Order: sequence, then structure tokens, then C-alpha cells
Amino acid sequence: MARTPLIAGNWKMNLNHLEAIALVQKIAFSLPAKYFEKVDVTVVPPFTDLRSVQTLVDGDKLLLTYGAQDVSPHVSGAHTGDISGAMLAKLGCSYVVVGHSERRSDHHEDDALVAAKTAAALAHGITPIVCVGEPLEVREAGTHVAHTVDQLTGSLAGLTAVQVAQVVVAYEPVWAIGTGRVATPADAQEVCGALRAALVELGGAAAGSTVRVLYGGSVSSKNVAEIVGQTDVDGALVGGASLKADEFATLCAIA
Ligand code: PEP
Repeated sequence: MARTPLIAGNWKMNLNHLEAIALVQKIAFSLPAKYFEKVDVTVVPPFTDLRSVQTLVDGDKLLLTYGAQDVSPHVSGAHTGDISGAMLAKLGCSYVVVGHSERRSDHHEDDALVAAKTAAALAHGITPIVCVGEPLEVREAGTHVAHTVDQLTGSLAGLTAVQVAQVVVAYEPVWAIGTGRVATPADAQEVCGALRAALVELGGAAAGSTVRVLYGGSVSSKNVAEIVGQTDVDGALVGGASLKADEFATLCAIA
């Protein structure tokens, strides 16, 4: 089954709501409407920008979507600082990033918590972008495939086969994030192919053929074509390069 490529721009902790509006406008108007028939483009701003982005996207009927950078595993209540899936759904979020390596390291998130967040997103009709990837020492030890497949298995634990088929997976080697050191296309294909095989194990043939597996880690307009040209790579999760309208729009157009 043909999978529609997805390019997701993870803004991390950058840009206030006014800067967000300016960037989304520039990206949307840099890409022709027919582009969006072939590629899904989403931006993932900080929580504080989401209402402004929603107003802009709805008001101007923009064809790109948006998502959030995290979601609480809890439904509601006494969880200071957390944001629920229901709140994100009300804001029109299509996606939520879960298990990003920066949250795994900064906030000590483990696979069980990522699995609970994945389930929370799905319960509210939001597509989780489930991030996995190995640190440098694991890559150097040559155990990156097993490490990453284990992370995916843990991060999808408890989901039904139908739910597994509804996620997006992002392979993001930690040593490539924000470093300018991009994985080779062959490296990306090796792990993304193994992740797809794991998806078949976890969710059956439907999951293997429908789930989009993205690559993330220092993707730019210069390297995106080769990376997304790999058989099992269905798009990119982009950090730094998603903060510059021209660069991000160029990257999308190439992808
Ligand atoms: C990311 O934060 O998910 C990411 C891939 O960042 P960068 O593109 O800057 O490496």
C-alpha cells in the first residue's frame, strides 16, 4: 500500500505565538496547494502557540496540520503542568510527538510512560509520532537495531493491532539530533526496515503496510531526498531546519 509521506517540523522550545503565526504563514504560502495532495506537512510548536496556530490554520483554511510536543498519560485532574489529550484534540491537533529523546533524557521518560502517552493520544483521535533511536555508544557497539526495536516494542506495549496500525514511528538516532551529523541513507533504511518488520510482529500485516516510519536527525534540504528515497522511510521529523521558513519549505518541496 502506498503511504503518503509526512514531513513534521518539531520546533522544540522555540518561537512565541506571534513568531509562530509568521512562520506558519510563510511555510503555507511557499508551497502550492497541489503539493499537499501528495505530502502531509505538519508543524509541532510549543503548547503556548497552539491556539494561535489553530486560529490561523482554520481561518485561512491552510492545508498544513499541526501537533503538540507532548501529552499527559492522564485523563484530567491533579497533574500540574501537564496537558491532556482532550485539550489537544479540542485545539485541533492532528499529531503529538511522544518519546522524543530530549524528553527521555531531560524528564527520564521510559518506554512504559511513552506507551501510556501513545494510548492517551490514540484515545483522543490524535496520531502519536512515537520516537525511538539509539545513543552513540549503542551505535558504536553495533547493537542499534536490537536497541531501537526493543524501544519500539516497549513504547507500543498494550496497544491492540488496530491501534498499532494508527501510529507514526520516528527513527531518530540520538547522535544525529541537532548535531549536523546525519545518518547515511543506508543507516536510516537498515533501522527503519527493522522497525517495519517489528510493526508487522506487533500489529500484523496491516500495520506493516500502513504505518509511516520517519527518519529524524539533522535532516535538511541538502540530504532529505536521499533519505526519504529509501524503501522504508516515509518522511522526516525535522528539528532545526523547521524553524526557517525558506529552508523548511524547500525541504518539503524536495521530499
Ligand atoms: C528533532 O528534534 O526531532 C530533530 C530531528 O532535530 P534536528 O533536525 O535539529 O536534528
